[in-house]
Amino acid sequence: EATGPTIVAGEILVEIMASERGQGFLEPLALTGPYPSGAPAIFIDQVAKLGGGAGIIACVGRDDFGAINLERLRRDGVDVSAVSVSDRYPTGSAFVRYRPDGGRDFVYNIAESAAGRISLTEEARRLADGAGHLHVMGSALSIAGLKEIVAYAAKAVRARGGSTSFDPNVRKELIDGADGAHFSALVDDADLLLPSGDELLAAAGVADERQAVAALIARGVGEIVLKRGAAGSTRFGADGSRTDCAGFVVEEVDPTGAGDCFGATYLTCRRNGIEPGKALLYANAAGALNVTRLGPMEGLAGFDALDRFIAGTDRAK
Ligand code: ATP
Ligand code: MG
Repeated sequence: EATGPTIVAGEILVEIMASERGQGFLEPLALTGPYPSGAPAIFIDQVAKLGGGAGIIACVGRDDFGAINLERLRRDGVDVSAVSVSDRYPTGSAFVRYRPDGGRDFVYNIAESAAGRISLTEEARRLADGAGHLHVMGSALSIAGLKEIVAYAAKAVRARGGSTSFDPNVRKELIDGADGAHFSALVDDADLLLPSGDELLAAAGVADERQAVAALIARGVGEIVLKRGAAGSTRFGADGSRTDCAGFVVEEVDPTGAGDCFGATYLTCRRNGIEPGKALLYANAAGALNVTRLGPMEGLAGFDALDRFIAGTDRAK
């Protein structure tokens, strides 16, 4: 296993939430935020919280929304040397309102924000050249410029004997469409695949969980960790092993960020040599703790806080 930080690339955003549940944004509302956000930012901040080396390739605007994100990432120990600051475009944003049924309505500004201006800068190359692990998120692949960064970073990390992980949270159209080959290559290449729900079946292109796991392992995936929301998670090893881990019983206040927080925790435990079953337990704890807090990055926790949470919280089943 190569040394060097875990790195990610993609969108840094602020999230602004409606204070009350309801449908959409069609009348004046009380809002709360801005909160630091963006799936890659959530992921990498959690890696740093656990004491792992961490860096991010991204772009923010020269504004307060960018400043609160940079401040948070720096405070928690993330290398932000490869975050460029745009003078022309504002930091990306996501307005979210939870519906009474638990669904969500969004208004995004990503593609036309600084987040859409991400590119393979000198600083990005430097960060990738020293990295030991690359985590790729499917959701970020629609950003122009990201494919080039991912291709460069994957090659650099591989050249050093490092590893990769992939969260295939991609819209179905992307898997079927012209980007399908790129998506498949990222799946095949992943040492660790982190799907949630039906993404496992979509990534394998089959309709049954066991078949999907077998197909993906045959394609070269090293291990698969399936996220099951409140029910917890399951790990499938390349040796045919299966490990289930029940979820923690918590009151879900804000589900955004649980998956990224979970993935970052599992990966960082594994990079630290923690065995799969214990890594799953920590990851479940990190995801569960995260959903109890308002704001996608407000519930991120280090090992001490996770140990306290595990000791004091019941588990499902
Ligand atoms: P997101 O909703 O952020 O896209 P995801 O769908 O990728 O995330 P989830 O399965 O929702 O991932 O959450 C990841 C992990 O966090 C779960 O496997 C579980 O361990 C924990 N978790 C999420 N929601 C809850 C909950 N309501 N109660 C307990 N644990 C939870
Ligand atoms: Mg979820």
